[in-house]
Amino acid sequence: MKLTILGSGSPEAYVRRASSGYLVETGDDVILFDCGGGVFDNLVRSGRKPSDITHLFFTHLHTDHMMDYARLVHAAWDEGAPPLKVFGPAPIAGITEGFFGLDGVLSHDLRARTELLPSQEVWKARGGTLPRPWPAPDVTEITGGFAFEGEGWHLSSCTAPHAQPVLDCLGFALNAEGRKFVYSGDTGLCDGIETLCRGADLLLHWCYRLDGEEAHPMMVPLTPTPSEIAAMATRADVKRLLLSHFRIHMDAPERHAAALGVLEAGFAGESAIVEDLETYLI
Ligand SMILES: [Zn+2]
Repeated sequence: MKLTILGSGSPEAYVRRASSGYLVETGDDVILFDCGGGVFDNLVRSGRKPSDITHLFFTHLHTDHMMDYARLVHAAWDEGAPPLKVFGPAPIAGITEGFFGLDGVLSHDLRARTELLPSQEVWKARGGTLPRPWPAPDVTEITGGFAFEGEGWHLSSCTAPHAQPVLDCLGFALNAEGRKFVYSGDTGLCDGIETLCRGADLLLHWCYRLDGEEAHPMMVPLTPTPSEIAAMATRADVKRLLLSHFRIHMDAPERHAAALGVLEAGFAGESAIVEDLETYLI
């Protein structure tokens, strides 16, 4: 498996880090986990096309995990791709309908592109046929415990405590090529996540707060620090640990150094803080 970091940031506007998006390639499948703002551009920067994506899994529907969804679907449609397979918590079906339905916010654009003669001629000149269907992602709403069998890969999931009860939130494990990749999504630590992480060859875990940073008492259990994540990864026998979802202030050089020191002290395997467009072999 090959992991490409397409967005390692948060909702903050930040040139160094797009919002959340992680690409995993295995066999012929190109699997995207989350699609926050900036992920689309980083996908193109990474040398891939929107139509290359075969599956999209959303951990949750905070905007920093889905703001580029419509752009990805629209661009893949414009490239003539088959319907994208999309999996995510409710209301991803309603959101998709809200973008691409007959009365959706993009309906005027889609009518213009499919009904006007000049646009039809452009489409035909690019090898398309008429009538031109609208984008129609193949959407499946999922909850924690959802599992999926791909071509040579298996995905499992669990509930991730983050923004309930308004948003259902998940973490994902992907088994392929005899290896296990886990993406925590945005989550507090809990038995379900720790079980999901067990034996992972690579754990990509969100980090929203560094050791020593104060937080509201309600936020503390929802925002594990590097030392807490390292301890969990050690208990779960994780082989390699990557932290992501960094905010601007967390990237101060002395804060990076402190976080890396904490990881090294609490986790025996290789560990790092990821950056956009990095790649990792799993
Ligand atoms: Zn997030």
